[in-house]
Amino acid sequence: MLKNTGFCDRYIIMKNWQKEYSKSIRNIDEIPSHLVDKDISSLKRVSEKYPFFSNRYYLNLVSNHPELKPVIIPDERELEDNTGLEDPLGEEIDSPVPGIVHRYPDRVLFLTHNICPIHCRYCTRKRILGKNVNFGKNTWDRGIKYIESHKEIFDVLISGGDPLLLNNSEILYLLEKLKNIEHVGLVRIGTRVPAAFPERINSELINTLKQFIPLYMNIHFVHPLEITEEVKTACLRLSGAGIILGAQIVLLKGINDNVETLKILLRELLKIGVKPYALFHPDNTRGTAHFRLSIDKGISIVHKLRGFISGMAVPNYMVDLYRGGGKVEICYNYIKSKDGDTYEIENYEGKHFEYR
Ligand SMILES: *Cc1c(COP(=O)(O)O)cnc(C)c1O
Repeated sequence: MLKNTGFCDRYIIMKNWQKEYSKSIRNIDEIPSHLVDKDISSLKRVSEKYPFFSNRYYLNLVSNHPELKPVIIPDERELEDNTGLEDPLGEEIDSPVPGIVHRYPDRVLFLTHNICPIHCRYCTRKRILGKNVNFGKNTWDRGIKYIESHKEIFDVLISGGDPLLLNNSEILYLLEKLKNIEHVGLVRIGTRVPAAFPERINSELINTLKQFIPLYMNIHFVHPLEITEEVKTACLRLSGAGIILGAQIVLLKGINDNVETLKILLRELLKIGVKPYALFHPDNTRGTAHFRLSIDKGISIVHKLRGFISGMAVPNYMVDLYRGGGKVEICYNYIKSKDGDTYEIENYEGKHFEYR
């Protein structure tokens, strides 16, 4: 287990997470000075366009581990990037009613609101960070109606913003409605909360969620330093309640784009009961060019993981195409040639074998 921050042992049992959340930091002047090595006025300009936001737990973690700085501290390069798209995945094109993205045949994305435990600087939905996007109960009800009237929808992925920052009665409302739709066989929650604001995972939340098992939860992580004792406790509480945990990781230049860091992250995730599900190539979101790397680099990193560490630890490497093209798995091509029904296949070490 990686070093404990020592900061929030006392918060993990805290009941009033809202109170702790309300102490989150939005003002650049309150960021510890060693994390702001550049001209503070330029960071203020960045945060006018893309607001800075972090709860105290995560800011403290970054303060102790400046390797995590690029995750939440604004960077003047965000304003220089005109290459990316505001809505790179074309979510607005595929939205039949507000808050629903229906792109694939049997599943929908259900966006609950746009509030998060931290503002990740590489966020795909950077366009709505901190903006007052109105996803109220009426919007949810329209989304639920849409799902009810589309019998082909098997899988509902609740995301946002972060659904675990809704209060328990709101979570109960959504899960009850969705789980009661007969054709919905799978409900999953996409969240960064267990990794970035573990004090939210208190007993009331666990009691709310465990009424709905089987329930799947994909937690967003980017770096092994995020796996603290508090995060471990939060994940073990969730899995102990019967919730099935996966991880979604974004491959990010300057944060985790090397084999060693990813290897540690993937193994540490398995150690806390979280199965790495997807490794996403960074989206082409405006203001995030400094995090991007080539697909070739991504392929070569995953190629150095597959076969070298537990298969359980290796996520699928996915690229989400522009304008609604959707997610595609990208991988190294191990088939080197084919002659009739005979293939020449390379193994993880680069040795070639014939397979008939
Ligand atoms: C990622 C995504 C999903 C879920 O895709 P899976 O491959 O099933 O994990 C569903 N809808 C949208 C719009 C998505 O972006």
